[in-house]
Amino acid sequence: MEQAELRQWEYKCIQEESPRCTAACPLHVDARECCSLLAARRVDKAWAVLAKTMPLPGVLARICDAPCKAACLRKDKGGSIEMGALERFLADAAQSPKPPRPLPRNGKSVAVIGGTMTGLCAAWEIARKGFAVTVYCTRPDVGVVLPDGVLDGELAVMDRMGVTIERDAALTPELVEAQLEGRDAVFIDSDGVPETMLTFGEPDEITLGTNRLGLFVGRTGETSPVFMAAAGRRAANSILRFSQGVSMVKSRELEGPYETRLYTRLDKVDPVEPVPADGGYDEAGAVREAARCLKCECMECVKGCVYLKHYKQYPKVYIRQVYNNEAIVRGTRQANKLINSCMLCGLCGTVCPEDFAMDDVCLEARRRMIDKGTMPPSAHEFALRDMAFADGVKCALARHAPGATESEYVFFPGCQLTATDPGGAERAYADLRARLGKVGLILRCCGAPARWSGREALFEESLAELKAAWEGLGSPRIIAACPSCIKTLREAMPDAEIVSHWSILNALGLPETALRAGGTLAVNDPCAAREDGALRADVRGLLDALGVSMVEPEYNGELTQCCGYGGLLNEVDPELGQAAARARAEAVAEDYVTYCAMCREMIARTGKRTMHLYDLLYPGDGEPGARPTPGHSERRENRVRLRERLLRELWSEADGVSAEDFEKIRMTCTEAGAAAMEARRILTSDVQKVLLQAERSGRHLVHGETGRFLASFRPAVVTYWVEYESRDDGYLVHNAWCHRMKIKGGQP
Ligand code: SF4
Ligand code: SF4
Ligand code: SF4
Repeated sequence: MEQAELRQWEYKCIQEESPRCTAACPLHVDARECCSLLAARRVDKAWAVLAKTMPLPGVLARICDAPCKAACLRKDKGGSIEMGALERFLADAAQSPKPPRPLPRNGKSVAVIGGTMTGLCAAWEIARKGFAVTVYCTRPDVGVVLPDGVLDGELAVMDRMGVTIERDAALTPELVEAQLEGRDAVFIDSDGVPETMLTFGEPDEITLGTNRLGLFVGRTGETSPVFMAAAGRRAANSILRFSQGVSMVKSRELEGPYETRLYTRLDKVDPVEPVPADGGYDEAGAVREAARCLKCECMECVKGCVYLKHYKQYPKVYIRQVYNNEAIVRGTRQANKLINSCMLCGLCGTVCPEDFAMDDVCLEARRRMIDKGTMPPSAHEFALRDMAFADGVKCALARHAPGATESEYVFFPGCQLTATDPGGAERAYADLRARLGKVGLILRCCGAPARWSGREALFEESLAELKAAWEGLGSPRIIAACPSCIKTLREAMPDAEIVSHWSILNALGLPETALRAGGTLAVNDPCAAREDGALRADVRGLLDALGVSMVEPEYNGELTQCCGYGGLLNEVDPELGQAAARARAEAVAEDYVTYCAMCREMIARTGKRTMHLYDLLYPGDGEPGARPTPGHSERRENRVRLRERLLRELWSEADGVSAEDFEKIRMTCTEAGAAAMEARRILTSDVQKVLLQAERSGRHLVHGETGRFLASFRPAVVTYWVEYESRDDGYLVHNAWCHRMKIKGGQP
């Protein structure tokens, strides 16, 4: 990623923009943090936050006229936060924090002439930057009567900061001339000096500079104490720039009040009336008022996404991590995982007010990693092996309908539906043939796993095979049921007409097999249907026809959340994938119905009763919500058996695939062994290959106590280990492991 691109992405995410109060405050006080601490009764800390930004805080906090109130986002939800009153409470109740520590002295000196709020605040800010400062005035005067000792207290702090105050000074043009001679810069607080001294013309609006080099003048007539303080700060910034010889005007847009881009969603915020501030707050009142603060932030994408939440930050931070990762030869484990864990579901871009699509960032980063050869080999390997298997000789098939020599349609159930509900796919195909006639069949994968893993070349390869199969059938209209297949094929095959099975059924009416059981079900929209309103409407039309009364989860439709399978998250970080599925499961109390095979599997595996729409339209023998979720090996087996059965029963053909030697190995697993294989994504075929190798080579270890064997085999880049017993009826597998590390002198 180029740096310019990084900057564009960073700019898009507005999470770090200031809340409206801070942006509207001429001094940019962090009112949000202050309220947050005060709401937690951390009075001293809240005061410290205030005092960090405010010059003469003991004074200003008591007299600020709170222009921030007009900008407060709470305004239309009960009323703006009473920030001025809260600050007055803090000024009275908190222990004074340690006075600010100025920068080390820079050897330069500045004269401030005039001692109103503007001049005193300018002196405070200039002193903090390391200058020696002398204030010349009749007397310090902030224009308001303060409790005894308050102003003197702040003047004492200024004294410790290195500010000298010359009272009863003769404020004359000669004083100005003398100071311009002997100092590095002079600031005139125009409200604190006689008009006769203002002979230098209107100062520049941005810099407060005049036509005399080194002379800066505050503009007259300001009455708001906080704006006067901000004018003092502006003068201090100008004097610093002047003394450093840098640009006087560059990047000064954010001095003083400005418009912030921060977005905060308000539609779920209940109005709360302000706590009356007449007579000032006691602690309980101040705490209650501070608790009304909305703690404005965006985080819209993070709120809805388990993945974004998991990494504990937000996209502006993540994009920098993605960028930095590219500078490291193989990347860091953490950043590689961040890139590979996005579900590519598109929710973030849909909810983000600035269209920040984390999926685009992550997918592009994956593609670059593939191009540069830095993608960890294990990242998506299992899913890609599964895709290759679905496209291989044992599973892939393309045929016209039995007895037909042409196809008007071709049914494309997709590799996940055939893996998880081969019976449903078979019954759906029978129904389509019965009602539409010439419907061919293509069994294979749409290529989505290759695309999600960033392997465009592999995707194109798989697509070319799919296209060849489709063209071989005369390029008929494709009927697909899986939303990911529909989306992928529509993007990749613009010449093909892709229709959803759901729209076909809406037109044809429910199949004879449909279960009109009624009842209430929550509808889970798969993330691939996010942008397909027609698809979602077709599904609801069918559920309505089935008599189902539908419940919509909070995040659904355009704003639906991924089940944890999308983008191959479940391969990269199974725990996080399961957390996503659990979040989805817990979103509603009702049983779910969905129309993506993997949504159904992911959510059902959490224990939530979840059915696929096929379970209602083309039910099998069991109860629809109780269909088991097959393991990795069984899923493959299901595809193979479906192809075999269809070839035999519909086309009277043998499958034409001869069994490999390892498939003849007979084995069963203990419950623990089967669970270990499932968790470690070790297939029955992997174990069979180990057992065959051990049989042929005679190489295995024997456990002295249990008498069990331990054997290993490395068919390609992964070594598998199996702990087993030999029995009369085959092998009993107790455990299995795998690793990519190559052991010197180990098995070939
Ligand atoms: S009360 Fe005044 S100083 Fe405090 S945040 Fe509001 S404008 Fe800024
Ligand atoms: S998982 Fe979905 S919502 Fe979360 S970052 Fe990725 S695309 Fe966005
Ligand atoms: S939705 Fe997310 S990416 Fe968009 S601005 Fe908000 S925090 Fe940033």
